[in-house]
Amino acid sequence: MNGSHGAGMSYLDYNATAPIRPEAAAAVIEAMQSVGNASSMHQPGRQAAHRVDLARRQLAGLLNCSPGEIIFTSGATEANNLALRSAYTPGNSLVTSPAEHPAVLETARMVTAERPEDLVLLQVGSDGLVDLNALEQVFVTRSGGVVSLMGANNETGVLTDLRVVAKAVREAGALIHTDATQIVGRLPVDVAELDVDLLSLSAHKFGGPQGVGALYVRRGTPLPHRPLLVGGGQERGWRAGTLNVAGIIGLGAAADAARRNLGEEAERVAALRDRLERLLTLALPDCRLNGRRDQRLPGVTSITFPGVPADAVLAAMPDVAASEGSACASGAPTPSHVLLAMGLSREAADSTIRFSLGYATTDAEIEHAAQAVVRAVTQVRSSLAEADGPR
Ligand code: PMP
Repeated sequence: MNGSHGAGMSYLDYNATAPIRPEAAAAVIEAMQSVGNASSMHQPGRQAAHRVDLARRQLAGLLNCSPGEIIFTSGATEANNLALRSAYTPGNSLVTSPAEHPAVLETARMVTAERPEDLVLLQVGSDGLVDLNALEQVFVTRSGGVVSLMGANNETGVLTDLRVVAKAVREAGALIHTDATQIVGRLPVDVAELDVDLLSLSAHKFGGPQGVGALYVRRGTPLPHRPLLVGGGQERGWRAGTLNVAGIIGLGAAADAARRNLGEEAERVAALRDRLERLLTLALPDCRLNGRRDQRLPGVTSITFPGVPADAVLAAMPDVAASEGSACASGAPTPSHVLLAMGLSREAADSTIRFSLGYATTDAEIEHAAQAVVRAVTQVRSSLAEADGPR
């Protein structure tokens, strides 16, 4: 088990945030001990700029793009905001799905607020897949605009076939943005092969530090310049503000480590996820796995435990870190919009837990978590039955 989350704890919430990779932590510490603004002309400044260039190349290596196509941001939320604000033009369509992360959905709603007819939400099936046939239909009557579909869903792990999206969208002359936050560093992402124009990511999902991410913009993409932050003109005018040198260096180190271990990690993590599912479905045969099982991220499983509120189960197993729906919505008393879009009832959505594994997950964590979940579900069930029984 990775030492950062303590002995006796199963950390199964990589989709909320992954433990920082040792390579990234070492790079961040070293960078924080060095002085230098990457825009300064003196030697310490040039050294900082040099390190940022290396990180840009490391990320470009993970995405198979050129370093000049990367804009560093504070994370995927900012990258999504920047992408959609720039790619959407009033009067053209903005096509997305109701299962997107709020950083896309809310941005899409905000930029189309004055022309809500421009916003098209594709349906999501009970398996979590977006109806891509409907995408072709959209472009029978419209052309241009932007289509934004996530690479992998943060709650179910279900993957979007971006090649199919690209094929439909290219013929219509529209742009393609993908929120690839959950897929980058977990499965191969090759922007040239995927044929996307814009791609968002966040370092902390693949073992980098929190608070840093990037937007890839394909060279030559016809985008008006609509930065969220204006000022000193950093990042070629796309994102003003002193660069987060230590964060960017950590992102680069994590990207490099993820790239080197990608295939091997994905295989190992998928086997652990499958083992967790097997142990839970054997012990609790009425639990249901959500989402298309043969088209998912390796490390994610979304499981409904019928009649058992997820918050009570999570409270009954403090030594397992997992989450109800998405962490970004935690604190809000609303059920997961993703599960509702897939047709789950409110009660089923409220009884669903997302387990997400990653590069440092161990066999012991899975064995321990499976036992803890079975114990917690059984305990919550019997206390609910007692409360319902004769008094
Ligand atoms: N998109 C997706 C799919 C995510 O899972 C997340 C993080 N939960 C974000 C965007 C936002 O990332 P950040 O909070 O790092 O900006």
